[in-house]
Amino acid sequence: MTNKVCVRFAPSPTGYLHVGGARTAIFNWLFARKNNGKFLLRIEDTDAERSSEDLIQGILDGLEWLGIDFDEGPYFQSHFMDEHRKAAQTLLENGHAYRCFCEKEELDRKREEARKNKAPLMYDGTCRDLTEEEASEKEAGGLPYTIRMKVPRDNGSVLFTDIVYGEIEKKHEDIEDFVILRSNGQPLYILSNTIDDIRDHITHVIRGQDGLANTPKQILIYRALGAPIPEFAHMSFALDPKKAKISKRKHGEKVAVHFYKESGFLPWAMVNFLSLLGWSTPDSQQIFSKEELIDIFSLKGINKSNCIFDVRANDPKFFTDPKAFSINAHYLRNLPVAEIVPYVKQNLKKNGLWKPEYDGEKQQWFFDTLELLRERFHLITDFSDLGRAFLSDNFERDPKAVEKNILKYNGLKDWLPELADRLQNMDGFFSEQIEQVIRKTAEDLDVKIGILINGIRTVITGQSVGPGFIEMLLAIGKNRVIERLRQTPDLF
Ligand code: GLU
Repeated sequence: MTNKVCVRFAPSPTGYLHVGGARTAIFNWLFARKNNGKFLLRIEDTDAERSSEDLIQGILDGLEWLGIDFDEGPYFQSHFMDEHRKAAQTLLENGHAYRCFCEKEELDRKREEARKNKAPLMYDGTCRDLTEEEASEKEAGGLPYTIRMKVPRDNGSVLFTDIVYGEIEKKHEDIEDFVILRSNGQPLYILSNTIDDIRDHITHVIRGQDGLANTPKQILIYRALGAPIPEFAHMSFALDPKKAKISKRKHGEKVAVHFYKESGFLPWAMVNFLSLLGWSTPDSQQIFSKEELIDIFSLKGINKSNCIFDVRANDPKFFTDPKAFSINAHYLRNLPVAEIVPYVKQNLKKNGLWKPEYDGEKQQWFFDTLELLRERFHLITDFSDLGRAFLSDNFERDPKAVEKNILKYNGLKDWLPELADRLQNMDGFFSEQIEQVIRKTAEDLDVKIGILINGIRTVITGQSVGPGFIEMLLAIGKNRVIERLRQTPDLF
């Protein structure tokens, strides 16, 4: 036994990494890293129907993308079922558990009766006091049985201090003799989870609030086996703004970490965002590097009350929590460009917009263009979407922008091609001259310069807003600017 901090993330396989699960994983990981401890991954796959390779891969991919690395595992709970059965046997042998031969129908009937009488729905202990001979006789007669914990029947209680929820006391008399092994030999989750935590020397169980109800029963198992009891920290849930649990049924793909990957979020921005859910940071700081976050992380900062993840947001632009967007925009705009390039590259490749010269002779142009564009962007996908005209001649113009900045001014049909001719006659393509040419064209044609400028932007980028005007022209380049200005009449 060592006292080294050891924590685990123990998801049940679902095919994807749930954002709430990711948050649990992140808190465990931060705690392990902060304490130079060990973080292990255990897939709780004993519910055989729901487990398959694919269901597990989604979780591994999600963690990998987020950069949440584990030191051990993945372990698979299903590989340890014999050990769980053995533990049930030990509990039986040392008198902390007993065989229960009650039939399901009988138990259901009693439960129904209790419900009607508004009595507690607890097992009534019919088999608790069978003598060894009686029980062995029934067993020898081939009667199926479950194994139940023999919860002490005294005035005592299970008392523990949850790091988040504080002192919690559950009287023995309020804990039923719960089943730990089914009659078909299948261990119950509550047993498997505890035995795995004992074997893995878990020192701190950091998990969702739903685990709190199980904790007193689990502590009884620890006690009965003489195993050291870990610390517990239960995390409040992240709920949607209507206070509903974030679920696939309600929120579709927005429950899954890979949705955020595909939508253009940066992994660390997502970790940063999720780590702020239900955890108060000193000085309300919002942006943390990995080192900073590890340094200041403390389980004590976790809030008891539920926190809100605004997955419902339905604005086409901000389709999820606005805070996630603002944190992502922060990283997108402030990291060295070279650090965002791999993500942009991947996204451009996916959209057929990547050109090998961006790694070669056009690398400087590519970096400068990303630098220019990112000032207004929130997502990696914005480069191939809002920024498409900078990277391809095959782009669409926003109909609203065309309506407002082009179609309203019939004269643009002639003015912009005229401007194209004048730009073509320039030597080179430099800011001051470009400005002069545009100004002069406006004067000669007797048109307000603003109308020309808005028209130019819309024709060459398809958008009514974007980066600085001259920088934009320089990034698109002389030839493409001229070519696009000449397309103006086609828009009418
Ligand atoms: N497998 C459980 C779940 O996915 C985790 C319980 C625990 O961490 O103890 O909810």
